[in-house]
Amino acid sequence: MSQQTYPTGGEFLLRAAAPAEIFTPEDFDENQRMIAQAARDFIQQKIDPRREQIEYQGDTALGASLLQEAGAMGLLAVDVPERFGGMGADKATVMIISELISRSGSFAVQHGAQAGIGTLPIVYFGTEAQKARYLPRLATGELLTAYALTEPGSGSDALAARTTATLNPAGTHYLLNGVKQYISNAGFADLFIVFAKIDGDKFTGFIVEKAFGGVVIGAEEKKMGIKGSSTCQVILEDCPVPVANVLGEIGKGHHIAFNILNVGRFKLGASSVGGCKLALEWSVPYTTQREQFGAPISSFGLIRAKIADVAAAAFAAESMVYRTAGLLDRAIATLDKTAPDYDLKSILKVEEFSIECSMIKVFGTEAMALAAEEGVQMLGGYGYCQEYGLERLYRDERINRIFEGTNEINGCWCRACCCARRSRESCPCCRPPRRSPRS
Ligand SMILES: Cc1cc2nc3c(=O)[nH]c(=O)nc-3n(C[C@H](O)[C@H](O)[C@H](O)COP(=O)(O)OP(=O)(O)OC[C@H]3O[C@@H](n4cnc5c(N)ncnc54)[C@H](O)[C@@H]3O)c2cc1C
Repeated sequence: MSQQTYPTGGEFLLRAAAPAEIFTPEDFDENQRMIAQAARDFIQQKIDPRREQIEYQGDTALGASLLQEAGAMGLLAVDVPERFGGMGADKATVMIISELISRSGSFAVQHGAQAGIGTLPIVYFGTEAQKARYLPRLATGELLTAYALTEPGSGSDALAARTTATLNPAGTHYLLNGVKQYISNAGFADLFIVFAKIDGDKFTGFIVEKAFGGVVIGAEEKKMGIKGSSTCQVILEDCPVPVANVLGEIGKGHHIAFNILNVGRFKLGASSVGGCKLALEWSVPYTTQREQFGAPISSFGLIRAKIADVAAAAFAAESMVYRTAGLLDRAIATLDKTAPDYDLKSILKVEEFSIECSMIKVFGTEAMALAAEEGVQMLGGYGYCQEYGLERLYRDERINRIFEGTNEINGCWCRACCCARRSRESCPCCRPPRRSPRS
């Protein structure tokens, strides 16, 4: 008989969860509310006064000091285990922080790259020595980090990476060579989680300190939105990485890359919920004040329908995020926290919910796209102007449907292209078209 006492990933289709098994934002306890308040305070005190400099002057370098300030307020430590100076918080807490930090705009991307995809590979796959060396400083923001998977020739098809890692004759270091593309936080990061192939085929993770040498940072990309976030190429030129900095098992880099993306997708869904609420906050009061044809525009059916559509999508996205967070926390709570492989086992629990992570990413980001689109529309000409905020939200949300695996990739039913569980050949949508015998 099964020992399982919680509904697992995808099981909502097969069995109804008991009401007590479903987490909603109303279930947050005092501690979780306090951490959420810290995120609100951070935005009010540190981001709002610098909004112009960050978002409209595109001061990407400011991200370094902002991350350090966030670290001082505990906002980088949520996912880091307590024994390494972190909070070891549950997923519901992690998600409320992602939801609220989204209100910071560009900084949300910098926060996600630092506290999420940049730190989590070490939390879940690092050795005890690697965790002790890096995690305490990542949790405070003393060390800034980035996650370097994408390359100029390989985005969705991440395993087609061409970056190489070659063991030196002394057997002490791997020499990394290649180019990583669109790396968030690259402009100021001290540490990079890099994926490269050993002997041409063993896709492997590495912890690369910029101080190792051979790391060249390209120019800042000129982007449509999230203009205050740093996005650069990272060029590796015979970068010497000690063998002790191999992350996880040689040849199992895909295991790290895709499991970390599961968490990144989940968090992006949560931050999209925050974006939906912000769009409503900025647009609904306007519709009650703006009068046309002698009546508030909120009295017109077409405007009411827009508000209803966005509110319903935000409600559904929020429910998906916190329900899944609660189920995941239940799943993780079944593990022995004192076991040496607790962190690794925790990420395997997240993997059980990888389908939910993708659904949350796709639905959440589409909901936010709708919220930004309809928000601009409800404000008419004012929506198109910088002063009202929605113009920026409209530009900023666009990236959400592209990074952390495009929405097409997350929607691919077999997920072979992003989880590598099955071969591309067996996937009807990823499989390259067959050439006709005549061509
Ligand atoms: C601002 C920004 C920040 C980023 N930050 C990071 C970062 O920190 N670290 C990092 O490693 N990467 C980062 N990325 C890279 C991002 O994850 C990739 O851009 C994304 O995965 C898509 O890859 P691509 O751009 O190469 O597009 P491609 O993979 O070339 O895709 C192009 C189009 O083809 C579609 N497509 C591809 N394959 C299929 C398929 N099988 N079926 C259907 N459609 C398909 C895609 O959905 C997309 O619409 C960032 C990108 C940007 C723009």
